[in-house]
Amino acid sequence: MAVKLYNTKTHTVSEIIPLKEGYISMYACGPTVYDKTHIGHMRKYILDDILKRTFTLFGYTVTHVMNITDVGHLTGDTDESGEDKLEKGARKEGKTVWDIAKEYTEYFHDTMHAVNVIPPTLEVKATDHILDMIALTETLIAKGYAYETKQAVYFDTAKDLTYGSFSGQKLSEKRIGARDEVIEDDEKRNPQDFSLWFKRIGKFEHHSMHWPSPFGDGFPGWHIECSAMAMKHLGETIDIHTGGIDHIPVHHENEIAQSECATGHTFVNHWVHYDFLTVNGEKMSKSKENFYTISDITDNNIDPLAIRIMMMQTSYRKPLNFTWESLQASETTLKKIQTFVLNTKQGGVVIPSVIESCKDALADDLNTAKMLAVILPLLTNTEYVQEDIRSTILEMDCILGLNLNTLKQTAIPQHIIEMAEERILAKSEKDFEKSDRLREQIEKEGYTILDTKDGYDIKKTA
Ligand code: AMP
Ligand code: ZN
Repeated sequence: MAVKLYNTKTHTVSEIIPLKEGYISMYACGPTVYDKTHIGHMRKYILDDILKRTFTLFGYTVTHVMNITDVGHLTGDTDESGEDKLEKGARKEGKTVWDIAKEYTEYFHDTMHAVNVIPPTLEVKATDHILDMIALTETLIAKGYAYETKQAVYFDTAKDLTYGSFSGQKLSEKRIGARDEVIEDDEKRNPQDFSLWFKRIGKFEHHSMHWPSPFGDGFPGWHIECSAMAMKHLGETIDIHTGGIDHIPVHHENEIAQSECATGHTFVNHWVHYDFLTVNGEKMSKSKENFYTISDITDNNIDPLAIRIMMMQTSYRKPLNFTWESLQASETTLKKIQTFVLNTKQGGVVIPSVIESCKDALADDLNTAKMLAVILPLLTNTEYVQEDIRSTILEMDCILGLNLNTLKQTAIPQHIIEMAEERILAKSEKDFEKSDRLREQIEKEGYTILDTKDGYDIKKTA
């Protein structure tokens, strides 16, 4: 069975046919590390994780490369205006850019760990690849696709006859998009030309991250970073490249232009873009200050793994509106799964038809909601052997990522055990009023007591 996914490039859902049989190369645009990772970002990286886990389930070996953007991403990320996000973050916090990058990379890692995202095969930092970016820029200049001005090196969009076709934007629309007030270089040939290298002059005179280059001291543009790192680690043509939908019109359009003009080959066969996590219909973002982080979730006593359930309940191609109620509902679902696994005996066998239905759902454009609709009813299913259901759910945890294998029955508190003992004694003395009262009290505290032939059994209530 082949995995099918929507391809932004062809506007169709099509089979993934990797360049090398049995292997998938996947480049995932990573975080810009100038502030805290929020739940909007988590959607992107949890979906990357589920995508990777899906290919692994289907027997592929996945090489997953993700970058860390620690230089060159300007605040006006669609029109080259403003300043470097890291420089701005450093100034705001009175720290160095290097400290800011380190701090928020760690925050990102901690967040990913909390939501059980498997780390990429390779995580690559932009600042570790400056020479690769310079080399790619030199190739583009040598081939006539890039030019130098006093302020920068630009990609000449007029030389790339296919520029704009990926996002379906006409060049005239792009020109309007590149607002006059942000074009600060009068040597720029076309308003939509974008920087491959910013020189440390003019508004960037005091830019603290800078490197020598054949075009002068300066720093790379955000788009060339991803092209250089993706091609260095995965080759000139990649099977899958992922990103949020905000990257389609500029970042990815530009990545394609630079990479394909430099190599003459297709850069990416299959483009996967995830829609936004929203709050009241608006994209969750730092600039709108409508974001929540992992600590907001734990402060509300919600298990971060509930976020994975929430993300799986909606198609990656649709916006997902965040509410605390929906996260709480996902946590209830998580607890039900955990309780079922804990309270059911080990030793069952997986139910092949259920696994097949889950795989069918995933192969059908990563339909995680359909997969959950197969798994969740199993919790109340009475037709299958309970142990077999448990084994099947554990098998599918390779996608769910809920760490079900490591669950431990939490110890029953001593006072609950004492009440249970007192109840058994009351029952033996035929004091049913007292035994009923004790049962109610135990239940009120979140435990269920069952009478067995040897005495009783207590479990945490689902
Ligand atoms: P950034 O750190 O801003 O470069 O964003 C990193 C990734 O997170 C990009 O692929 C964005 O598209 C994605 N992203 C940022 N905000 C959201 C959001 N609210 N919902 C979904 N994805 C997002
Ligand atoms: Zn990127």
